[in-house]
Amino acid sequence: MLMNKKTGSAILEISNHPCFDDKARHKYGRIHLPVAPRCNIQCNFCDRQYDCVNESRPGVTSVVLSPHQALAYLKKVFALRKDISVAGIAGPGDPFANPEETMETLRLIRKAYPDLLLCVATNGLNIFPYIEELAKLRVSHITITINAVDPLIGEKIYAWVRDKMNVYRGKEAAEVLLCRQLEGLIGIKKHGITAKINTIIISGVNDGHIAEISRKVSEAGADIMNLIPMYAVAGTAFENIPEPSSGLLENCRKDASRFIPIMRHCMRCRSDAVGLLGEKLSPENVSLLKSYASLPLEGQERRPYVACASREGISVNMHLGRAEKIYVYGRGGDTYKLITVRKIPKSGGAGERWLKLAGTLKDCRALLVEAAGGAPREILGKQGIKIITFPGLIEKGLEAVYGADYIPGLADQGNCARRKTEPGSDPSCGCGCKGGGGGCG
Ligand code: SF4
Ligand code: SF4
Repeated sequence: MLMNKKTGSAILEISNHPCFDDKARHKYGRIHLPVAPRCNIQCNFCDRQYDCVNESRPGVTSVVLSPHQALAYLKKVFALRKDISVAGIAGPGDPFANPEETMETLRLIRKAYPDLLLCVATNGLNIFPYIEELAKLRVSHITITINAVDPLIGEKIYAWVRDKMNVYRGKEAAEVLLCRQLEGLIGIKKHGITAKINTIIISGVNDGHIAEISRKVSEAGADIMNLIPMYAVAGTAFENIPEPSSGLLENCRKDASRFIPIMRHCMRCRSDAVGLLGEKLSPENVSLLKSYASLPLEGQERRPYVACASREGISVNMHLGRAEKIYVYGRGGDTYKLITVRKIPKSGGAGERWLKLAGTLKDCRALLVEAAGGAPREILGKQGIKIITFPGLIEKGLEAVYGADYIPGLADQGNCARRKTEPGSDPSCGCGCKGGGGGCG
């Protein structure tokens, strides 16, 4: 493998992608960066769960990272191992249901690693507007998951499809999705990007439809197809559909191979997979991921301080909703000093109040609280301020944030505004809830 001495990454060599080339998979690994929590469609077999380290399937991740956290994590992984040839974004939701996070991550990585292979895997609904920039960023491999090219079959697979403010269901949902997928596929091929089609084989639903899918995607320019047996996930609409037998899988591959080359070594990886295909996510890697999820959401230069919701300036002991003031600390050498005390805005609706607070904390990389609701977490998070639940001594909290220690309890919050157990939470926020498609509200 040719290595870039400066960055420690492999030199852009598209045949080094372990998923696209069977020969490459024993030598080269991939890293998935879990920066895309939300999804814009609901497949009837999918449940995006966090923190399930024993489960290896698409959509599972221990944490969600911000683009800056993802870059810092990537740098650390490259310092630890030299066999990663590709960085990919594959969820846990859809990359283009989270286009800002996805594109920013790709931009940051490309700037830091001019020679690294970049790859994304998407349902294709919203990729089209981003293809030109993806090509400029030299994203070399894109996967679109297409499970049906007949809307009458597609409507059995997708509960809903959300395009901006419109939620589609039934046949119409499948039609909208298919149209976008084909438009996206043709677009990425026009830009010379290698295109893989993933198709989930669902017994009794689309297993008789594989030849038709492969013919259609081959005509649209796809390079390779990956047939993945559906993994029945408890709690999903398809939980009782059995996994396709190896015989059925083989027949489907035979059908499809009449039209397009077939990938045969897919491992159905997690959204935070790292290493050679099939390599299990180690406990060390999980802790590494969690420690990087505790970093500030943005680069640190613009945000030197840390804010604390406190009654008296000694302990983090206020629920954000009840706090009236915020203590702001900075670091000077090995010690921390109080910079200022700022008032929390009172007026306005809940959203407006948290936006104003974000404005007053522009120079802070994190806000330590005893507790906080979903709305401020989401609003401040979008403004680059991570809310961290850390009841206890302020000094300990500052040590953890500035030292980028793993903060217990942080990982289960992800970067998601709502907890996955919360009834009625956003079906598209990546929290695993399967709501009605109406959004967070
Ligand atoms: Fe489908 Fe979205 Fe789940 Fe991917 S993340 S399997 S597109 S619902
Ligand atoms: Fe490659 Fe399959 Fe893993 Fe995706 S899920 S990274 S295609 S092996």
